[in-house]
Amino acid sequence: MKKKITNLALVNNKTYEAAKTANLHHYDISSALQTTLDFNELIAIFCDKIQAMIPHNGVLYRNPLFNLEYHTGISTRHSCSYSLSLEEQSLGELKLMRQQRFSDKELNYLETLLCCLIYPLKNATLYRQALQMAYTDPLTKTKNRTAFNDTIEREYRLANRNANHLSLIFLDIDWFKTINDSCGHEGGDTALTSVANLIKDSVRGSDLVFRYGGEEFVVLLSETNLEDAGIIAERIRMAIENHTLAYGLEILNMTASLGVSSLRGNDSIESLINRADSAMYQAKMNGKNNVKLAK
Ligand code: GH3
Ligand code: MG
Ligand code: MG
Repeated sequence: MKKKITNLALVNNKTYEAAKTANLHHYDISSALQTTLDFNELIAIFCDKIQAMIPHNGVLYRNPLFNLEYHTGISTRHSCSYSLSLEEQSLGELKLMRQQRFSDKELNYLETLLCCLIYPLKNATLYRQALQMAYTDPLTKTKNRTAFNDTIEREYRLANRNANHLSLIFLDIDWFKTINDSCGHEGGDTALTSVANLIKDSVRGSDLVFRYGGEEFVVLLSETNLEDAGIIAERIRMAIENHTLAYGLEILNMTASLGVSSLRGNDSIESLINRADSAMYQAKMNGKNNVKLAK
């Protein structure tokens, strides 16, 4: 008869208690991490939960994919860093810092606990990507109308609370139908993308550009008064006028009409938008290719 060979691990009370404690920690951390899809909150929760087991004085989390950086506590001499990923997808880099060296035992334990963070970070990534898609116009890669509606709510509240300026530029490309007629819909699409890029290049990084509809764009300028917004609108108008777009054998010269409004004490969001829209129509009536301020 064949002799049955079995490998028996030595398990005693101590191992059992250690494993039980580790499982409880994993369960506790995993449950807490299920409460949010926000990167900063996930890192804060994780680091708070492991503090008693792996004491640390500072945390740095970087996620280049979304241009995120979360930093709390102090930067110290000793640190341990982990590049987190799942199935080739980078989930960012986490660094813990403290005055004393981390022991091998602590590092081993940290590595098992980090497993709890991977899937929540993956879910946060998927959520953020879905949000970005829902807020982005697929053709021009600018923010879309849904993003505009959400953003103007927030900017309107902030401007009123802090008594700050808030201005709006409405832009409509002139004679756009003729571009579609002469170059086809694809040529029109190329022209739209080119105008979107010219607008983005003409404003500061903090100014927000949205595709409002077909060939209409909106720029939202926080902490900017009517006169300064007018100067920016004029800069955009000139950038479009001075740009020549080659499409196949066609040379396209475009122009745009722009209306500018600025938040007043008794404004609603609608009245602020309507004033910029009416100013843009007045710019059209004035012969197109000009900027009109709603005074
Ligand atoms: P105006 O100078 O008065 O602004 O006239 P216009 O021809 O620019 O404006 P109108 O509003 O009459 O026409 C806008 C055109 O934009 C009609 C529509 O076919 C076109 N359009 C809207 N969205 C898109 C798009 O995504 N791609 C392309 N190629 N064309 C679009
Ligand atoms: Mg239009
Ligand atoms: Mg137009």
